[in-house]
Amino acid sequence: MPVAKRDYYEVLGVAKTASADDIKQAFRRLAMKHHPDRNPANKKESEERFKEISEAYEVLSDRQKRSAYDQYGHSGVEGAFRHGNFSWEDFTHFEDVADLFGGLDEIFASFGIGDLLGRTGRSRGGGGKGAPGADLEYSLQIDLADVLTGKEIPLLFPRREACDACRGEGTKGGVKRSACPDCQGRGQVRFQQGFFVMSTPCRRCRGEGSFVQHPCPECRGEGRVRKERRLTVKVPAGVEEGMRLKLSGEGEAGARGGGRGDLYVHLQVKPHPFFQRRESDLLCELPVSMVQASLGCELRVPTLEGSVMMKIPPGTQPGQTFRLKAKGLPALRGGFRGDELVRVKVEIPTRLQPAQRGLLEQFEKLSDNGAFPGIQKFWEQAKQWMKGSGPS
Ligand SMILES: [Zn+2]
Ligand SMILES: [Zn+2]
Repeated sequence: MPVAKRDYYEVLGVAKTASADDIKQAFRRLAMKHHPDRNPANKKESEERFKEISEAYEVLSDRQKRSAYDQYGHSGVEGAFRHGNFSWEDFTHFEDVADLFGGLDEIFASFGIGDLLGRTGRSRGGGGKGAPGADLEYSLQIDLADVLTGKEIPLLFPRREACDACRGEGTKGGVKRSACPDCQGRGQVRFQQGFFVMSTPCRRCRGEGSFVQHPCPECRGEGRVRKERRLTVKVPAGVEEGMRLKLSGEGEAGARGGGRGDLYVHLQVKPHPFFQRRESDLLCELPVSMVQASLGCELRVPTLEGSVMMKIPPGTQPGQTFRLKAKGLPALRGGFRGDELVRVKVEIPTRLQPAQRGLLEQFEKLSDNGAFPGIQKFWEQAKQWMKGSGPS
């Protein structure tokens, strides 16, 4: 005859109006007190008590279960536990007491429920699907010109595919795997050590849960083989350095029919010999001679698509920048195109023939202050300053 269950509030020693926090505190205090490890003298009794307070906490710490319990009593929450009985597998609040007894993993292990909560991240059981395949990363270098137009680029890379010979099962002839007899497909083996149920990965199936008696000779039981994959990736116009394209389902095949991972293509834009990117604009440094800058000239300057004639006006200064409209890069989302910025770099001759030197000396004699307004302005101010604060 089943013993009548005690009221959950009474078990935890709290009022019916207790807050969630009060309930948690009460449970922690009692769990600490009644943990069987702390009561070696009456282990059996403390185990029962520990179970009782855990069950009460499982219900009262859950808003829905608590309100069902408040309305209908024990019968209101019976469905929450398998076969109407509390079992450790139903207990979901280990994190609330983990710090009392060491790490969370330790608690999980000691109650042998790590696999139930899927903490190992692997599916269990013979015939079940395996974990999804790994994502792949591919680094792709593109030219600046490709950024202008966008480009379809062929890729060739190795990846793991389901083995044809065994249809991914890993078994000879592709017969269905059977659940591992040692662990009944759980992948974990449990054993009792004192009060605790411990679990370790099954040795026979190495935690897989399933068992291959005759491995497929093509893939040696792995269910997957390496193959070369060819595909074309479409790089859109306007992409930026470091962007990543995701190709869903182009990663590796999972084990035993598990889904495919994804392929990530990381884009790197190769440095260009004379164009630098400034978002959608392109910067080009254009060296011109001192004479070209002084007299003005017309030059054919490069763009990403051929060249255009550009006028350098007389008296152009170093660093002066001219804008070639819409000769830059398109925006990724479309709509407009950036400009090409041509920045003038004036070059001074490093070597003069005697005749050139003569001409420059003659030029200097003819120069008046008005030809160089910057020089004139500086010396007017500098002379004033040196008069006022220099050594007397
Ligand atoms: Zn195979
Ligand atoms: Zn096993």
